[in-house]
Order: sequence, then structure tokens, then C-alpha cells
Amino acid sequence: MKLFFLTLITLFFIQAYCHAKSKVVNIYSARQEVLMRELIDNFEVKENIKVNIIFSKANQLIKKIEMEGEYTDADILLTVDVARLLSAKKKGLFKTINSSILKNQIPSIYRDKDNQWYGMSLRARIFIYHKDRVADKELKGYLGLMDSNWKSRLLVRSSNNVYNQSLVSAMIYNYGRETTKDFLSRFTKNFARNPSGGDRDQIRAVVAGEGDIALVNSYYFIKMKKNDTEKKLNKIRVHFPFDEKMKTHINISGAGIIKYSKNTDNAIKFLEFLISDEAQKVYAEKNFEYPIKEGLKISSFLKKYSIQKKDSLDLNLIADNNKEALMMMGKAGWR
Ligand code: FE
Repeated sequence: MKLFFLTLITLFFIQAYCHAKSKVVNIYSARQEVLMRELIDNFEVKENIKVNIIFSKANQLIKKIEMEGEYTDADILLTVDVARLLSAKKKGLFKTINSSILKNQIPSIYRDKDNQWYGMSLRARIFIYHKDRVADKELKGYLGLMDSNWKSRLLVRSSNNVYNQSLVSAMIYNYGRETTKDFLSRFTKNFARNPSGGDRDQIRAVVAGEGDIALVNSYYFIKMKKNDTEKKLNKIRVHFPFDEKMKTHINISGAGIIKYSKNTDNAIKFLEFLISDEAQKVYAEKNFEYPIKEGLKISSFLKKYSIQKKDSLDLNLIADNNKEALMMMGKAGWR
């Protein structure tokens, strides 16, 4: 009898141990901890799944997962810009995920056609400008930036940045090769200085008077504006570019589940959590990104920066043009 109970107790502990061990998900994140912490804490409490996360640059994480192969601990790659997700997919790092929650809640243009990556939040590549030196009616779509009127007045980061590559890829789709080539050669002649720094630096340069218009991702400006206690940005305005052929370029932050994931069910739960109303709200209020789900209520502050006309390009198509975009940018002298 004693032996029977001993065996029963041992079995119980083995089962409990295995169960506890399976309640984990390992994330390789190219998104900073400050952006993810609240989401992770909320998920851990809600699902009782422990989140282990390492942070690094997207390219380094992709390389790490490639090198680790089937021995990787990674269950999820979390990153920004569809070009990075597409490159991880091309390298065969993701597995196909069948989640009706993800499929139903994320518009198809913002998720992989083979269900290997999913967008989690939206961002727009927009113009910001100095209101004393530029009138909003002078601004139209992206193509307008090639006008010689803007000579030595434009600020943008370098062409090796993925945000610019994805934008140019989208332009090739919307305007065609020849028009985009022509645009690039004239646009680069309008630069106020050689590209340097990140998107925030371009905004600061407009404030400092180094140029009049900067091409930046929306959340950088919106966050700076939110924290602008000294009112340095008082004279800076936002323009959402659009014309007949191309509306405001939309990109995503997103994720995919790693081919060799050992905790796939937990990983799916994490992605499903990220598109819950609760998590989408954190993206909007903490990160100043736009919810990927339609019809969600957002704060009145973010509402002021609602995208008027989103470009409807399917992000699955961006990869096809990426290499060509980079080559064209180089040829046009965009360093
Ligand atoms: Fe960014």
C-alpha cells in the first residue's frame, strides 16, 4: 500500500514538472524591452506562461536562429518592417501557423499568404514639416518630393535602412519602375545634407532649421510630440502623403513562429494575445503605433494622427522589389 502511494505521488510530481516546463515561450525580439514589457507582463499573468525574451538587432537574431538550427530555443521572432519578416521566411525559419483568430483579425494584406508571419501593429511613413517654411497645400504624395522647389530642403535617413527600402519597393509597385527611378534621381538632389542618423534625428534637424521636410515613421514623431514638454515641436506639422496612384505607405511590426519551436501552442497563444483588444491598446498608447485590427477605439491623442488614406498594397509583394529598390537608391546617389 505504501509503495502504491509513493508511486502515485512520484507520478504526480513528474506530471506537474512536465506541465510547468511546458508553460514557457521563448522570444527573440528586435523590438526594445520598453515597448514589450507591459505586453509580456500582462500575458504571463493572463495565461500563466513564462516568457523568456532576448533582445537584439533583427539581422543578428535572424542569423542566430539560422545558426542554431533545430537546437534553437526560439519559439517566436518579433521584429519590425515586413522586409525583415519576408527575409526570415525566405530563409525557411518560420513554420505555417493555422490560427483562425490570427487569420480573422488581421487583414490579409498585413499577414503572410502562407500563414508564416503576421502583422501585429501598423505604422505609416509620413512627412513632417516646419509650418513657417512649408504650407500643407504644397505637399501631396511621395512623388511630390522630387519637385525642384524642395532643393536642399529634405531630410531622410540612409538607404541602408529597411524603412526606406520598403517604401521604395512600394513605390515601384504603385508608380512603376521608370517613374520611381526618375523620382529617386531628383529626390536625392533635394537632400539638405548627406543622410545620417535615425528618424528622430531628421525631426530634430527640421526643428534646428537644417531642412524643412523630413520623411519619418509616424510613431517616432507622435511619441516625441507626446513628450514635448518644452514645446520644441510647436511649429512642426504632420502630412500623410497621398496622390492618385499611391496613398500613405503602411508597414507593420510583426512576428513569426520558428520552424523548430518546441512550444508552438504557447507561441500561438502569445501572438493571439498580441492582437487582443487589450494588447492592441498597449501598442497604441505606449508605442504610438496604430492597431492592426479595424474599429478599435484609440486615445484622442493618437486620433489626431489618424491616417487619412492608407495605401492598400499587399505587403506580401514588397519582397519582390526589395533588392531592386536598394540598387535603384544606390544608383541615384542615396547613401
Ligand atoms: Fe523604428
